[in-house]
Amino acid sequence: MVGDGFRVHNFFPNGYKLKMSPFFLLDYNSKIQFSARNEPRGVGVHPHRGFETVTIAYHGAVAHHDSAGNSGIIYPGDVQWMTAASGILHKEYHEEAFSKQGGAFQMVQLWVNLPAKDKMSKPKYQAISQAQIAKHQLPDHAGLVAVIAGEYLGTKGSASTFTPIHAYNLRLNKTGKATFNFPADFNTAFVVIEGEIKVNDTEIAKADQMIHFKNEGEQIFVEGIQDSVVLILSGEPINEPITHYGPFLMNKPEEIQQAIADYNQGKFGYLEE
Ligand code: MN
Repeated sequence: MVGDGFRVHNFFPNGYKLKMSPFFLLDYNSKIQFSARNEPRGVGVHPHRGFETVTIAYHGAVAHHDSAGNSGIIYPGDVQWMTAASGILHKEYHEEAFSKQGGAFQMVQLWVNLPAKDKMSKPKYQAISQAQIAKHQLPDHAGLVAVIAGEYLGTKGSASTFTPIHAYNLRLNKTGKATFNFPADFNTAFVVIEGEIKVNDTEIAKADQMIHFKNEGEQIFVEGIQDSVVLILSGEPINEPITHYGPFLMNKPEEIQQAIADYNQGKFGYLEE
């Protein structure tokens, strides 16, 4: 559990030692039923520095507040792209009405690393609603590609990123087909959120499974075995040293020490519990 509101499985970096830069961490909250509760479950005020947190909602609703004064509610289909960069405090709780009612909850939280030159830039917040996300309709009623970031066949993503990243939610109907092209050096993974797919005519993956691609070849072919939802991530690796400690992701150990000192001195701002 992260706090008491997020029951996550860590696909990386702890779960599997994957080469996934610029993506540093992927916590996957598979679909779970939360009982109704007046006091919203969640995770209280905590800091981040040196990267971005990206929350992608599939079921349930999360309320977010941060020390830069940004707040919002993330509903199914929405994406919150928060750039912690030089430092931020935030808290994430089940949205009040959802908490009172209870129900299905399914989310992804991704940590996207920043290049050294941008780690100490100003925090930024992109609240991207489902309606704002550009959709590319696939031919033959195969489904659609919701382009969160990057580009798919000319359809451009809504999120701005510091390094080249493609992030899509693919909705693929049963027997629907789609093809993706990513540079071979980009690190690429598919997370099956719902349904079942066949990839490159060979590998089958079901809901709650992740496919991690080798850095070989550029084309990926997907077919829906069931009506499916797939989170597709592909990014150019940031080839810089990494030092990770708790909520901080920097290049050098002394920068972690600095982050801890700055946090203890209140330099990340203030946020009410
Ligand atoms: Mn956080």
